[in-house]
Amino acid sequence: MMLANFVAGQWKEGAGAGEPLIDPVTGEELTRISSQGIDVDGALEFARAEGGASLRQTTYRERADLLAKIADVLAANRDEYFRISLLNSGATQADASFDVDGAIYTMKYYGKIGRALAEGKLLKEGALIPLSKTNVFAAQHFLVPAKGVAVFINAFNFPAWGLCEKAAPALLSGVPIVVKPASPTAWLTQRIVEDIVKAGILPAGAISIICGSARDLLDHVREGDIVSFTGSADTAARIRSHASVLRRSVRINIEADSLNSAILGPDVAPGTDLFELFAKEVVREMMIKAGQKCTAIRRVLVPRQHAKALGDAISERLGALKVGNPRNAEVKVGPVVNKAQQSSCLEGLRQLKEECTVLFGGDERFQPLDADPGKSAFVQPTLLSSKNGVSAKFVHDVEVFGPAATLVAYDTPENLVAIARRGLGSLVVSIFSNDEAFTQNVILGIGDLHGRVMVVDSTVGSQATGHGNVVPSCLHGGPGRAGGGEELAGLRALSLYHRRFVVQGPPSCIAGLDGLSSDASHLYS
Ligand code: NAP
Repeated sequence: MMLANFVAGQWKEGAGAGEPLIDPVTGEELTRISSQGIDVDGALEFARAEGGASLRQTTYRERADLLAKIADVLAANRDEYFRISLLNSGATQADASFDVDGAIYTMKYYGKIGRALAEGKLLKEGALIPLSKTNVFAAQHFLVPAKGVAVFINAFNFPAWGLCEKAAPALLSGVPIVVKPASPTAWLTQRIVEDIVKAGILPAGAISIICGSARDLLDHVREGDIVSFTGSADTAARIRSHASVLRRSVRINIEADSLNSAILGPDVAPGTDLFELFAKEVVREMMIKAGQKCTAIRRVLVPRQHAKALGDAISERLGALKVGNPRNAEVKVGPVVNKAQQSSCLEGLRQLKEECTVLFGGDERFQPLDADPGKSAFVQPTLLSSKNGVSAKFVHDVEVFGPAATLVAYDTPENLVAIARRGLGSLVVSIFSNDEAFTQNVILGIGDLHGRVMVVDSTVGSQATGHGNVVPSCLHGGPGRAGGGEELAGLRALSLYHRRFVVQGPPSCIAGLDGLSSDASHLYS
């Protein structure tokens, strides 16, 4: 079986034998994908000309209604998405929920807040700026939907949410989308697009999907288009420097990999509730999606005097986790996505072991529950402890995209800040402490290198949304190594899909445009 691409309003199978999609537990082939022979240039042109033009005839409010309908379709097909997640990603129920329910929630969220933009076709930003003494000449900034196409190149770990967190703000903005999911898990994204197309919600050309290799996709992007990429820092560098992207000043947003930290404050002693909550959070981040989350905790920064107790607490919890075939209801940690990712994780762990001691796991011949290690792609949850602190080489640089984390002991707040900064830019850091002065100092020391800082004290306790959990109302993205991109943050996400311009002229002329606008102050509230 070959999954079809949907381009220029038609389903089309790619040519050739294609690439197989595999069950990472059994090693069995599930289906195939191919983008060979697909007219990518024609697909992008159809999206711009047909999809974009139709979407822009509608108002923000009307498009918010489209998102709500899409959310309903996804909710109706949720069971099937869980089935595909199990087969193609080896996802436990909790893993599938993280991706699929996260996708549905994000679509619903944008449907709901999009309604606040009412019937406008562009967004008015800020107040009228007087430019003459007699007020006959003034200026007004506006944001107008881009007239290009939004091209999404996505990572394998979130086939559902990865599509929806980008699609919701783009479609609400009136910009058509073409998604190229990561090959290993393209099936779920393809099925979601198929369900949306079948439901007849969107105008022709508003949504397209190309499965398989990106091939010449980026050769055909041009002025007015947006490329939104999620994946590794290496691929990001290739996309950023692509000739068409550079020559045509194509707007790009990059969400790349990240060595996120979780910080335990010196005031949090072993045996306290906050200490236990911290240990639990580290384990949760290793467990969900088998650690294949861009936001997962990779570095656990702990005051030296608590390092032994924390290592013991985390190891004890890891020892209680069942790792194996997610068809077994007791299993909490499934496989990584395929043999290639397994090899990459094991290689990364070998590098980390050169400068760390292993506190838990790390056995390459480990036996998963109800699965054949020869055919499956499991990585044993592994906790390491750095010997070299701030001067470690691999700990601050190698992202093991699996169930692994490294303890790094710190001695002083200055030393802690220096260690956290070695990540060179991360999506998220969390700080567990009841000492507000400590927390504020750390935030001042590292805030510039992080997209999100989550602070948990005893008053917050287990009510925090979670270190690795991206919520649509808050910013997702991070500077430096994390890619420098920004996504979500409520309506702020619409900025990526709009162009800002300023009209200078008589206030009466500007007032005419006001009638077509929605107030963009919602973007900033
Ligand atoms: P990847 O290998 O970089 O691939 C990402 C996407 O880029 C895939 O769709 C891939 O297609 C495509 N691609 C590869 N080479 C390309 C090229 N030359 N031109 C255009 N597209 C190209 O990443 P991955 O292995 O799928 O995902 C894991 C990584 O993503 C991890 O490092 C993780 O930290 C990161 N991630 C970041 C975020 C975030 O929000 N910051 C979220 C999730 C994941 P093929 O699959 O067909 O090769």
